This record gives sequence, structure tokens and C-alpha cells, in this order.
Amino acid sequence: MADFSFADQAALPPDLAAARILVVDDNAVNLTVLAELLDEAGYQQVVTESSSTQAVKRWLTEAFDLLLLDIRMPELDGHGVMRLLKNHLAPDDYLPCLILTAQTDRETRQAALDAGAVDFITKPFDFEDALKRIRNALHTRLIHQKARHKAADLAQTVGAQQAELQSKAQDLAYLAAHDPLTGLLNRHALTERLHGLLAEGSQGLTFALIEITDADQLLLLDGIESVDLLLRTVAGRLQLALNNHFGLCGIWHGQTFLCVLPLTGQAARALLDQLMPQVFAPIRHDAFQLSIHGRGGYAEAVAPPGALLNEAGVQQAIRSAGFALASQHKRGNRLAPFDQTLADSYLRRTQVERALFRALEDDRAQFALHFQPKIDLQHEQLVGCEALLRWRHPELGWISPAEFIPIAEEKGSIEELGLIVIDHAAAFIARMQRETGRAVSVAVNVSSYQFELMRARGGSLVDEIDRILQRYAVEPRFLEIEITESALLSGFDWVLEKLHRLRALGLSIALDDFGTGYSSLSYLQKLPITTLKIDRSFVDNAANLPRQAAMLGSIVRMADELGLTTVAEGVETPADLAILKNLNCTVAQGYYYSRPLPADAFLDWMRQFPAPAAE
Ligand code: C2E
Ligand code: MG
Ligand code: MG
Repeated sequence: MADFSFADQAALPPDLAAARILVVDDNAVNLTVLAELLDEAGYQQVVTESSSTQAVKRWLTEAFDLLLLDIRMPELDGHGVMRLLKNHLAPDDYLPCLILTAQTDRETRQAALDAGAVDFITKPFDFEDALKRIRNALHTRLIHQKARHKAADLAQTVGAQQAELQSKAQDLAYLAAHDPLTGLLNRHALTERLHGLLAEGSQGLTFALIEITDADQLLLLDGIESVDLLLRTVAGRLQLALNNHFGLCGIWHGQTFLCVLPLTGQAARALLDQLMPQVFAPIRHDAFQLSIHGRGGYAEAVAPPGALLNEAGVQQAIRSAGFALASQHKRGNRLAPFDQTLADSYLRRTQVERALFRALEDDRAQFALHFQPKIDLQHEQLVGCEALLRWRHPELGWISPAEFIPIAEEKGSIEELGLIVIDHAAAFIARMQRETGRAVSVAVNVSSYQFELMRARGGSLVDEIDRILQRYAVEPRFLEIEITESALLSGFDWVLEKLHRLRALGLSIALDDFGTGYSSLSYLQKLPITTLKIDRSFVDNAANLPRQAAMLGSIVRMADELGLTTVAEGVETPADLAILKNLNCTVAQGYYYSRPLPADAFLDWMRQFPAPAAE
């Protein structure tokens, strides 16, 4: 730092000139001398104070940059002043104090330094020396102040940044807990809230799952904006309905909402009964109206007496609500309660569905055909058999076709399964010829889905059948196709064409379960069928029911006039047989003759039964 001299006065930098200096001395002369000296040196803000206690007050209430402090003063001496002022210092501050003291007073100097004084000005004053020390002390003080201000600014900036980070973190927390489209809680947040409810202690809650099922269709027809509108509207309605009852709701998955009610029993039911009409009311938007379709299910979790609900109870109830939902029609807009029987059948169905899929993938040996004889009534001869699919699963045991065929149809595996059946039937015809020296016709059941699925994949069931027969070198006349009337509903003309092709190949065709379906007589004259299989329900107990016997008789006569063979299904008793013979029914099939038999057993049976003369 440059040495100060009187010649330098004009050079006093503005920040030093503007510094505020407090001079404290009980001696008025000293005060005047110093004030004049400082004024001359260019200091513009000098305050003098003769009372040390007054000085303390002023220092604490006004802002000063430097303290020139006499030590020996009445009441409160300089040490006392320093002590008091130091009590009010911030941790990063010091007392910018110069002690005014007699040159000789070494002890006082030492004590003042210990008390934190930064320098001395010796009395009597050496002006030049005094001004240099004042200037040095002030310079140091101003640098220190600047550094402190900077630090304070920095602290403020850091504080602001921290606040910003905090609010961003809050935004993130919001996003992590809510579905961005609807603003509803997501599954994670719902689960946490449920934990909270359990921690508070709850005795019963009701859970409803509600699914919107037509969003995919809406997406195709009206675009994604409509789907968004739909979801937001449903979310808003649900929230409104539940908020009024302290319920919770959120997105459980996809387009399925979970509602949690702090009620059970009748109270919950009353609320839920109102829910669907409110939530699924059509949306009126500008010029158009949007209808909403979906389904829902609910179940309650109730703690045993004297206990509180636990996590497992809640999870079970949500699963049950899911079962209740799955048992509902997709567009029924119904919210149904959980029902154990429905849940069991749903579970069983899923189990069978999975097992079927696995069996087709890995272990087709689980499937086999059984064969049930068909007997010509007039000659009491074996004229054919029906191939019936049997499935034995290693864990589930025997599963009836009445159970798995509809599942295979719905899941599309009937196409593969159907080909296995035709393949096994053709192989069996070849074996029959090989091992017994003759063959009877084998009828296989073909579902309309098999035609459809093949067509959808650009294939043809007819071509496939043709190939299989050729592979086993089997004459087409030994294979019969049984179709039901429902097969014709999927597209009469189209299926008709397939049937004509099968006939042209040389196969015979039977109309199965006649009398149970839609039984339009106009079908009969258009269809290229060879056989009418009269459903078991007409045969059963016909001997005792005259009206039923009359119907049976007229079906047989009509078929006869159309040139069709009649096969009566489900013939169980001699009485059944007698009436069928009486009515001139051509062929009978049923437990009376034999249950469906495994291939080996059928061949044995066949060896014992008379063959048709023409064979
Ligand atoms: P369906 O084609 O009407 O077959 C006749 C059903 O009646 C068979 O049941 C047979 O076991 C049963 N039955 C035969 N005689 C009697 C009797 O005297 N009394 C009683 N109560 N029942 C008798 P199954 O084998 O359980 O088959 C049920 C249905 O499953 C079949 O009815 C058929 O629609 C379907 N199905 C069976 N195998 C196949 C197949 O390979 N493919 C397709 N698509 N469907 C099949
Ligand atoms: Mg059949
Ligand atoms: Mg039948």
C-alpha cells in the first residue's frame, strides 16, 4: 500500500472518503483535533462521541466502518466498549477498532490487542502516522466488507438455487405420483396411500376396479384426442364422485381405474350403485356425443373382529375385484360384486387355456381320439364311428371337450387342434384297413372357426384335408365331417362353397346336433349334406313323451324325404332303441351300444361286430 502524506489527501479514494468513522473520547479536545484532522484528510462522515455508553448505542444502531476508541474513560472504559461490541459481532466479522492511547502505556496496549483492537494511535497524536494507520485500517475493513457482501450475495444465490431445486424436486415428486394425462394418482402412489391407510388402522375398505373397454375402438374411429378426452372425463367424474365420500381413486393399469372406499357393506354398495351411471354417462362435447363402454367389479376387505386390516387382505380384495370385473361383459357398463363361483370358473378357464397352449407347443401326445360306433338299425351292423377328441393333462387330468373346445375356439388354437384330429382320424382309417381288412367311415367334428381361421391366414381347410388324406392314402369316402348349424351363421354362402368342395372331394357331411340350434328348414334344402344327426335331447326319454316322439318321427320322415341318412345321438336304453327302430331312423349312436373307445378297443369291438354286407 502506498505511503500516505498530506500531499496525498486529494488522492483519498471515494470509498475511503465515504467511510463512516466513529471517534470516541471523553476528552473534548482530542475529539476536536481528530475530527478536524480527518475532515482535512478528506473523510466526509466522521461522528464524534464523548460518552462511551452512548457510543456503544450508536455503533450498534448506525452503520460504521471504523472505531477510534479512547481507553481511559469514566463509567465504561475502552476495554468495556470493545467487549460489549464484540458480543454483537457476526461469526465472520471483527471489530474494526483503533485504540487511542498514550505511547508509554504498554500494558494498556497489550490488553487492547488481546481484546481485539487492530492497531493504535498514539497520544499525543502524530498526525501523519495517525492518518496512515486510519487509512490502512479502513482499507482493510472495506476489503473485508466487500468480501462479506460477496459471500452474502453468494449465500443468497445459493439459497435461491436451493429453493428452485426444491420446487423442481416437488414437481418431480408430483410427476412420479400422478398420471400425466388425467392427474389421478398412479399405482405406485395409490399403493403408498393404501399403506398409509393401513398404518392409521382400518377395519374395512371396499375396492372397485373399473375398466374402459372401448378406448381402442375410439382411437381408430376418432383419434387419440377423443381417447384423451374420454379418459380425462371419466377420471374427473370418478374423482368427483369419490371425493365427496372420502374415497381414493387412481389409475391401476392401462385404462383401468382403482377406487378405494372407506366403507363396506350396504353403504359401499349404495355408493357404487350410483357410480356407473354417473361415470359412464355419454360425454357431450361441442357438436358430438361420445358414448362410453366398460365394466367393473368390486370386493371388500374386512378385518376379523377386534383386528385391523392388513396388506394381504387388501391385495386379496383387489384381486377379487379383478375377478368380478373379468366376469362382466366388456360393454355392459356394469359394476358387479365379487362372486367366488365365477372367480373359480374364471381361474379354471385360465388354467385350461394355458395348459392347452403348452400341450400344443410341447406335448401333443396328451391328445388322442376315441371312437364311438354308429350302428345301422335295420341290419344291426357297424357302419361308422364318430371320432371324439380326448385330452389328458398330466396335472389337470381328463378335460372334457365341452370345456376345452370353446376355449380353443376363442383363442384360435382350434385350427391346430382340428388338424391334429383330422390327421389322427385319417391315420386311424389307414390302420383300421391294415389291421382288420376293412374300414368304416370316421366322422370328425369341425368347428366353423376352423374354416374361418384358415381363410384368415390365406389357407384352405379343404386343401389341407385333401393333403392329409393323400398322405395316408385314405379314400375320402371314409371321412365324414360333422358341422353344427352355428357353423353356418358366420357366413352361409362362404361356408356353403367349402362344403360343396368337400362333397366334390368325396367326403360325406353330417349336420350335427340337429334341432338344438336355429334349425331353419331352408338350410336343409340348400346344404350339400348327406346325414342329419338328431340331437340327444329328442331321443332322450322319447318313449315316455308322446309329443317328443312325434317330433322325432317327423324329423326322421323329413330327412328321409330329403334323401338324408338319420343318425340318432345319445341312444342309451332299449326303449330309446325300440322307438327309433319303430320310427325308421337309419343309424343309432350312444352308450347303449358303446361309449367312445380308445383306438385299440374300438378295433377289438369292430372285429366282433358284423360288417355290412356290401363292405
Ligand atoms: P358331439 O359332436 O355332439 O358329440 C357327441 C357327444 O355326446 C360326445 O361327447 C359323446 O361322448 C356324447 N355321447 C355319446 N353317446 C352318448 C350317450 O348315450 N349319452 C350321453 N349322455 N352322451 C353321449 P363329448 O365327447 O364330451 O364331446 C362333446 C362335444 O365336444 C361334441 O359333441 C363336439 O361338439 C365337441 N367335440 C368333441 N371332439 C371334437 C373335435 O375333435 N373337434 C371339435 N370341433 N369338436 C369336438
Ligand atoms: Mg359330433
Ligand atoms: Mg352331436
